[in-house]
Amino acid sequence: MKKYVAVWGGMFFIVASVSLYLMMEAVSTNTSSRSPDMLQSHEVDTKIQRIKAQIQRNQDTIKDIKNLVGQLSKDGDKETLQKLQKVLSEVDTDVKAVNLPKTKEAAKGWLQGLIGGGSEKEPVYQKPRGEVTVSGEVCKLAEAPNVDSDVKTLRLMDMLSFDNPDGGVWKQGWPITYPPNKWGGEKKLFVFVVPHSHNDPGWVKTFDDYYQGQVRQLLDNMVNKLEEDPRRKFIETEMSFFSTWWHDITQDKRKRVKRLVDNGQLEITTGGWVMSDEANAHYAAIVDQLIEGNQWAHNILGVEPKSGWAIDPFGHSPTMAYLLKRAGLHNMLIQRVHYAVKKKLAKDKQLEFMWRQHWDREGTTDMMCHMMPFYSYDVPHTCGPDPKICCQFDFARMSPSRYNCPWKVAPTAITSHNVAERAKTLLDQYRKKSELYRTDVLLIPLGDDFRYDKEDECERQFSNYQKLFDYMNSSPELGVQCQFGTLSDYFNKVYELSEVEQGTRPEDFPVLAGDFFTYSDRDDHYWSGYYTSRPFYKSLDRLMEYHVRAAEVIFTLALSYSRQASVTNFPQEKLMEKLVGARRNLGLYQHHDGITGTAKDFVVVDYGERMLKGVMDCKSIIVEAASFLMLENKNDYKYPKEPLFNMDEDRKYHDSLPERTVLDVTEVSSSVLFYNPLGHEREQMVVVYVTSPFIEVQSADGTTVQAQVDPVWESPTVMVPKKFKIWFVVRVPALGIARYTLRKIQPEALKSISFASIVVMNVVITEHTETYPFIMKMEKPEDFVLENSNLKAHIRGKTGFLQSVTTKHDNKKHEAEVTFLKYGTRGSKEKSGAYLFMPDGHGKPLDGVIPVIRIMRGPAVSEVTVYTRNVQHTLRLYNSPGTDGMVVDMSNLVDVRKEMNFELAMSIATDVENTDREFYTDLNGFQMLKHKTFDKLPLQANVYPMPAMAYIEDETTRFSVLSAQSLGVACHFKGDIVVMLDRRLNQDDNRGLGQGVRDNKVTPNRFHLLFESRKSPKPKDKMIGYPSLQAHVSYLHLTHPLFTAPENMDALTHRYLPTFSPVDEPLPCEVHLLNLRTLQNRDDDLTMRYKPRKEAGLLLHSLGHDCNFANKGLLCHSNGGKVVLGKLFQQVTLDKVTETTLTLIKEKEEIDKAASIELKPMEIYTYKLSIQ
Ligand SMILES: [Zn+2]
Repeated sequence: MKKYVAVWGGMFFIVASVSLYLMMEAVSTNTSSRSPDMLQSHEVDTKIQRIKAQIQRNQDTIKDIKNLVGQLSKDGDKETLQKLQKVLSEVDTDVKAVNLPKTKEAAKGWLQGLIGGGSEKEPVYQKPRGEVTVSGEVCKLAEAPNVDSDVKTLRLMDMLSFDNPDGGVWKQGWPITYPPNKWGGEKKLFVFVVPHSHNDPGWVKTFDDYYQGQVRQLLDNMVNKLEEDPRRKFIETEMSFFSTWWHDITQDKRKRVKRLVDNGQLEITTGGWVMSDEANAHYAAIVDQLIEGNQWAHNILGVEPKSGWAIDPFGHSPTMAYLLKRAGLHNMLIQRVHYAVKKKLAKDKQLEFMWRQHWDREGTTDMMCHMMPFYSYDVPHTCGPDPKICCQFDFARMSPSRYNCPWKVAPTAITSHNVAERAKTLLDQYRKKSELYRTDVLLIPLGDDFRYDKEDECERQFSNYQKLFDYMNSSPELGVQCQFGTLSDYFNKVYELSEVEQGTRPEDFPVLAGDFFTYSDRDDHYWSGYYTSRPFYKSLDRLMEYHVRAAEVIFTLALSYSRQASVTNFPQEKLMEKLVGARRNLGLYQHHDGITGTAKDFVVVDYGERMLKGVMDCKSIIVEAASFLMLENKNDYKYPKEPLFNMDEDRKYHDSLPERTVLDVTEVSSSVLFYNPLGHEREQMVVVYVTSPFIEVQSADGTTVQAQVDPVWESPTVMVPKKFKIWFVVRVPALGIARYTLRKIQPEALKSISFASIVVMNVVITEHTETYPFIMKMEKPEDFVLENSNLKAHIRGKTGFLQSVTTKHDNKKHEAEVTFLKYGTRGSKEKSGAYLFMPDGHGKPLDGVIPVIRIMRGPAVSEVTVYTRNVQHTLRLYNSPGTDGMVVDMSNLVDVRKEMNFELAMSIATDVENTDREFYTDLNGFQMLKHKTFDKLPLQANVYPMPAMAYIEDETTRFSVLSAQSLGVACHFKGDIVVMLDRRLNQDDNRGLGQGVRDNKVTPNRFHLLFESRKSPKPKDKMIGYPSLQAHVSYLHLTHPLFTAPENMDALTHRYLPTFSPVDEPLPCEVHLLNLRTLQNRDDDLTMRYKPRKEAGLLLHSLGHDCNFANKGLLCHSNGGKVVLGKLFQQVTLDKVTETTLTLIKEKEEIDKAASIELKPMEIYTYKLSIQ
């Protein structure tokens, strides 16, 4: 017995001394000299808590032993003896696991690592870089007064009463009359009837089903029917369908089509890949699909589109007007605008206007725009104000037909007996409609969804209308000249009669500035639901956009380097084929039933699969091009051998979350490439997944990099074994690649690594949930703080959500209370669906569950993750010298799959005093427009699209939410920003989709929150706002992350360059390289199709910004937007640089490569580079 007691006595001594040693070491590190920016107070806390935990554990062990010894001394049975041995061996293992190094010096390093945030070393993560100051001409932009315009849409909204009185046959208008003798003799009304078919590239059927089932037939019909009579015309808009059809038709038919285009019977309107959505789509993707479509139309048909046709996007953005203008179009048409706005503009004869950009004081970008006046683009709502009469002139509805007239009067065929009466009836509608416009030219669209796909339907429309025209035109007393026309025929007549050049302003035409959101087609049916519908795919869209752009840039660089190096092993055609496919899949999704989330479930799957293919193809292009560029000897490159580097992540299904590639680290160094697709150098925190926590990271010059290791979680408290995250800061040149190496080292040798300290709340942990070397601690749910050099995030212990943020530079505390809200649907018949948001009142806080909160802290990254109902919410602060050190990084994993008629939003309530609840949201990521929350409008009318960012501000502070995906946003109460996150709706909302939205996915979203102090008070009464340079760059970093490619350990090893830095002189901060896109050869030449041309389109966007804020953490400089194109790329020999229209169709002037050109803020410039 005595022997045992002696053993246990010895054990107590060991355990106690280990505890004491750990405690003393831990405390001693706190007395060392520390940067005030490091996480002092919480570290002391953490260490003390850690020591407490260890003491507790030791005490427990001692208690166990005491009990056993007690029992043993009583009876000394075998079983107790075994138990005792087990405890003993566990104590032994515990001591071994700690594996205390022999020397005191080494012990310190290890201990610091174990505790997290260790640090007798110099602090590695410095303060943000010096402020980039901006001055000069560019700073006048934000201060400039509003542009001159006759109409400002925000003022219009302010003024309108939205009383919605019954207008008679034109329900949302008024009874139109016209002077009986207005027309006749010399006074003629010129009517252009424009046959069209609205073809959605996916909606209730997939793209392929529509094409095979209808579009192919209608295009075939059109060729025959137009050839039968040269007076017949037709317009075609979506190049996605047209190019698919082109591949299917014979050479002979292609010639016939070309003839119809050349003689003006067939007009390509807009000529984009699709008719893009204007709310959720980002301008980069809109431009991309416009280039893809316009390039196709130009290369194959020799067409330069002149008129834009957008009859179905659910609300309209001035960004489109700008982009179409810069693409060389003269005119555009829009349709879906709030009925009250239409009525007011119609009353004032302002439905045709020059659309002016809010920043463009000279009006150089003014775009002629025609707004359709009535409810819809179908025939009943286009011939005039009375749908009952107009329906009688949709001869496709003539019995027998699949269509009918809901107004119960069917069309009748035109005969010599009825033609006079029919013509008079129709002309009455025409004349009434023309009263809403200023000129004697009238536009009458003639078509509907997927029309003219039956031969007899075409015949009925064309021949009956021709009879009406012939009659009217041969009756001079009617004072009308009627004909089929294309859209440009109509506009050209307007210019002709107004005696102005095409595309310029007729003397009495009004100028309008502003946007047309949020759309309502009737009553309080506001189309603000689609800003958020299918958010999983909205997020996938941005991911795809990032990948396509990143692949375009690096492909173009690798291609030109391969030419310079005179090697032939770069697989240019294979990769070009993938790239073209990706461009088209991205383009397709910009369709107004794609990114809007308003297609049927199986169509959404079709889009999703196309996007997944695009993303994975782009990853492979990036990895191949990066491998090629980084090889010291380009001849070592072989395709399609095993790739030298892996992709950053894998995505198994279109709707699954990504699985990060894990680098299997060994004692031999392996490389990880970081590719920066932006035109500025950057420095930021990155994460690599590895198989061991004992890692050393080095930059290519051999410098050891400080890093933090975090566990990977499989549940709130259970760690994934053998999988770790390693965080460190990298610096990567503009458009370049930086290489870092990682290798496994012995735990004893660890000097540059810290392990995250982990605290959990509201959950009980057991030993087995921990993975060595991490230790978790339980704490009471009390308020806590996360911090880095610049920010302190104060978090509520009760919820785990953000409460306020202190900006350290001015020690100012900003309220920022995060709450998750739910909206239900109304009890009445009219309920929310894919398009409409019809909530049952203001959002109510999600209640009920006690959240599990997990905090991880370390010198590189600190984060809190909250597991609560419907959301897994993470807030993260990066201790980085880059812009990522200036923002609060917030992400959610949303799951509403078990809910019914349920919409989820995240509200951030601040103390920003935004008077009149004014708030700014972006349009297509291109410009920021001001909105006001109006009490006279229902809640759903005050929701706007947020494709990129939103902010509110007062005289001193601006609070911005930068969004990595497009979602709906509102400011219902002063100081708050509410972001809609997901919606699950059980019913259709009667806009033709025929289903609810119930295919919800576990959906990721991500935001950066930015608190900025104003240097001077904000300008009064401005309609437009500008992000700071810092906000612009932070947004670019959020949406264009560094692409991480870990080395493929199965591939042969090669010698790699330390870095790839292609840019001679990086772009200034205010210039964004929008794209560098290799041009495609003729798409219908199957041998040349994917052989890249030696030409690339370079698109530069000069970002308009507000100089009244400090810009920290930027490695780029500011020079007012000056660029020397010849200095942009090293080793890329440019033969010629020509400025062109936006879609690279029309060449403007040759640019002197050596000259410094100044890019005007807000403008996009396009250059065609001829590369040697
Ligand atoms: Zn449509």
